[in-house]
Amino acid sequence: MATDYSDLKKNLPEWVKMSRMFASKGRVADYIPHLAYAPADALGITLLPLNGDKLTAGDCDTSFTLQSISKVFTLILALMDNGEARVFEKVGMEPTGDDFNSMLKLELVEPGKPFNPLINAGAIVISSLIHGQSIAEKSARILAFIRELAGDTSLTWNEEVRRSEAQTANRNRSMAYFLKDNRILDDEVENTLEVYFRHCAIEVHCSHVARMALILANDGVDPQIGRSIIPRRYVQIAKSFMVTCGMYNASGEFAIQVGIPAKSGVSGGILALVPGKLGIGVVGPSLNDKGNSIAGVHLLRLLSERYDWSIF
Ligand code: GLN
Repeated sequence: MATDYSDLKKNLPEWVKMSRMFASKGRVADYIPHLAYAPADALGITLLPLNGDKLTAGDCDTSFTLQSISKVFTLILALMDNGEARVFEKVGMEPTGDDFNSMLKLELVEPGKPFNPLINAGAIVISSLIHGQSIAEKSARILAFIRELAGDTSLTWNEEVRRSEAQTANRNRSMAYFLKDNRILDDEVENTLEVYFRHCAIEVHCSHVARMALILANDGVDPQIGRSIIPRRYVQIAKSFMVTCGMYNASGEFAIQVGIPAKSGVSGGILALVPGKLGIGVVGPSLNDKGNSIAGVHLLRLLSERYDWSIF
C-alpha cells in the first residue's frame, strides 16, 4: 500500500529554508583545496520512498563528491569480494571517538589495526582489499558498483577533486605508510591511495545518493528490478557501522537526535535511510566542527522528529 507523503511534500521547502539558515554557522572544508569552491549556503534534499514518488527540495542540482560516503560501499564490495572473516582481520568494528583522519589509536592499540572501516585509516585498508589486478581494475569495479546502485551509468570521479586530494594528502599518506609498516596494508601505499582518492571523488547529486540509500533501506534489493544487489548480511553490517561511526565522532549525538543510519562526507553530503521506508540524499557543504553538514543535520533532525523515524 502506498504511504501518504503529502504532508512531507507540503512542508519540505519550508524546512529546507529554515535549516539553510544554519549554513552560515559552519565552514566549507578546504583541507582538500578544491572542495573550498563548493557553495557554502546550499542545501538540498532528495527523498526516495519505497512506495511513493520522489520528493526533492532546495539545491538538489548542486553536485558534490561522495568523499567518506563512498566508504560504506567500498566496505560492502570488500565484504562481497573477501567475506567477513578476511575483512575483519584487517579492520575492527568499534567507534574511535577521534576525528576521521586521526592516527592516534593506530599506535596506541596493538596491532595497529584501524578501529573501523569508516575512518580514513580503515577505509584505506578496505580500498586495498577490493579485488582487481591494477589500480584501474579496482577503481573500475568500485565505479561500476556505485553506478549500479545510483542508477546512472554516466557517473565518474571528478578529476580536479581527485588531483587536489592526491596532491595534498600528507596525512592519509603517512597513515598508509604506518599501516604498511605494521603489515596491515599489504599493497603498495601509492597504489592503494590512488584507488581511495578516486572513489572519494566520485561526483553525484542528491538523487543518486538517495537511490543508493534506498537499496540499503530495502535490504540490498533494487526495488525497480526486484533483484538483490547486496547480500542482506552485508547491508546489516553497513547499517551497524553507519549508526556507530557514520557521522564521525558525532555519531552518538546523531543517534540520539535523529536516530537513523547515516554516513556523511566532508563535501557536505549525507546518505541516510529509514529502514524499509526511505532512501535520503542531502547536500549542504557548510560543515559543523565535527565535519558533518551543519544545515543537513538540522534538516534530518526536523524530519525525524516530525515523522518519528528513529529506529531506537
Ligand atoms: N577523502 C577524504 C579524506 O580522506 C574523505 C574524508 C571524509 O569525507 N571525511 O580526507
